[in-house]
Order: sequence, then C-alpha cells, then structure tokens
Amino acid sequence: MPELPEVESLRRILAGSAAGRTIVSAIVRETRLRRPLRHDLAEAVAGRAILEIGRRAKYLLLELRGGVVLMVHLGMSGSLTHRRDGCDPGPFDPRHDHVEFPLDDGTRLVYNDPRRFGMIKPLGRAELAGSPELRGLGPEPFASEFNAEYLWRATRGRLVAVKALLMDQRIVAGVGNIYASEILFRAGVRPTRRAGRVTRAEAARIAAFTPIVLSEAIGDGGTTFRSYRDSRGQPGRFAERLQVYDRAGRPCLVCGAAIRAVTVGQRSSFHCPRCQK
Ligand SMILES: [Zn+2]
Repeated sequence: MPELPEVESLRRILAGSAAGRTIVSAIVRETRLRRPLRHDLAEAVAGRAILEIGRRAKYLLLELRGGVVLMVHLGMSGSLTHRRDGCDPGPFDPRHDHVEFPLDDGTRLVYNDPRRFGMIKPLGRAELAGSPELRGLGPEPFASEFNAEYLWRATRGRLVAVKALLMDQRIVAGVGNIYASEILFRAGVRPTRRAGRVTRAEAARIAAFTPIVLSEAIGDGGTTFRSYRDSRGQPGRFAERLQVYDRAGRPCLVCGAAIRAVTVGQRSSFHCPRCQK
C-alpha cells in the first residue's frame, strides 16, 4: 500500500513533469473506485492549468487554475502516471487504467488502480481544509509542530500500543505500517508498548526518527511491496534498507537476535527483542 514516502516520491516526479501543463479533458472508464467518481469530473477540470502539485498526508493535491483542487488518493494499489503516446506503459496493466487526463502537450496523466480502493475528487480550494478527508488530520511528520514535546503530550494516559498511536492519522498524518515499524526500531522502542508508558526521552527519539526514516524512504523512491510503482513505472528501492519490516526470523542488523513478528491493532509488526525495550 502506498504510504507517505511513495506518495511524496510520486508528487515530486509529477511536479517536475506535469506542473504547468493544462488538463484538456477527463476520460473515465470506470467510475467504481472506493467512492464512485463524480460524473462532473471532466467539467470540473477541463481547460485548467496544473499550477502545482502538493500533498497532505497520503493525498496528492493537484492545484488547478481557478481555485479547483483535484484530490487523488492511491488507495491500496493505485498510481498516477504521466505517459507519452507510443511509450511503453511499463508494468501497468491497461485494463486498470480507469481515468485518463489528456494534457495540452499530447501527454496524459493516467490513474491505474487494480484494486480500485483509490479516490479522485475535484473540490474548491476553500473547501479543502474542511473536507472529510483532511479535517482532523494531525500535523505532517516534517512540520515543526510534530516535535518531542507534542508527541510526549499525545502519548500521556494512552493505553494503545505506541505503534498504533504513531499510525493514528489524528496524531501525525501519513505514517503507515511499514515506516512505523522502522521508526520504532531506530528509536529502540517496542511497538507493543503502551503509548502512556513511553518515556520523555523515548518520545523525543520517536519524534526525531520519524522524519529521518521517511526522508530516507523518499530519497529511495519509497518501498515496493507487490504493486507499487512510481509515475515512471519504477519500483521504490527502500525495501533494501528495511531493518525490521518483513524480516521475521532473520537476524537483527544491529545485534543478531531474530526479528520477531507480532500483531498490533490487526497489523503485522516487526521488532528486535533485544534492541527494542
Ligand atoms: Zn537487535
């Protein structure tokens, strides 16, 4: 499932290649995504230039001329790719090219999503902050508000596992399962520990490692498990750098102890029983 680093990697590529172009129309082949596509999608975006491409949590935000924002969520298996005619579509199965946005230079943005859990929704810029998707989201992990003091306060009195808290989008936006495991390994804190039992020093380490781990993953183009591909069809390379995620039974890269898999909040979670307290 694409997490923040995958969406941010995609955003950076699209910002370099598609920003400045004008959307000519929208060709919808399948309206049944996680929520049905609005029938006025083409009307809402046609003729509008893409001013910039932003991101909030795991939502891509294509800022269009005239105060319209096209919000795109990749769901479980979606990708937004920028393609040229005659070019190899790469690993994308054309049967899952559900929506296409032809651009004024003859290229097109293509939304491909085999499992159809994604979302594409045009809305006015003024409605964005109050939209059901973005309302109530916590700070971005790179924002100054997400710091040691903030996380320490957010953990006080909480009985949930610290990993579940770190994945709670109201606490911090965009940390998902893979990166929560990696962040807690770096911070030396077991994912199963009750959040309220995290010390001030540990909260500071978790807050510090969160943007570090995510930045490293963004630099590597994200992590590919199964279907994720960036907008050029390239897999992310961060999987090679994962220290605990998906490494159950294999030796810890720091101390050699066997990595353990446990379930936290119905999600598989990985930790080193020796390095993480
Ligand atoms: Zn270890």
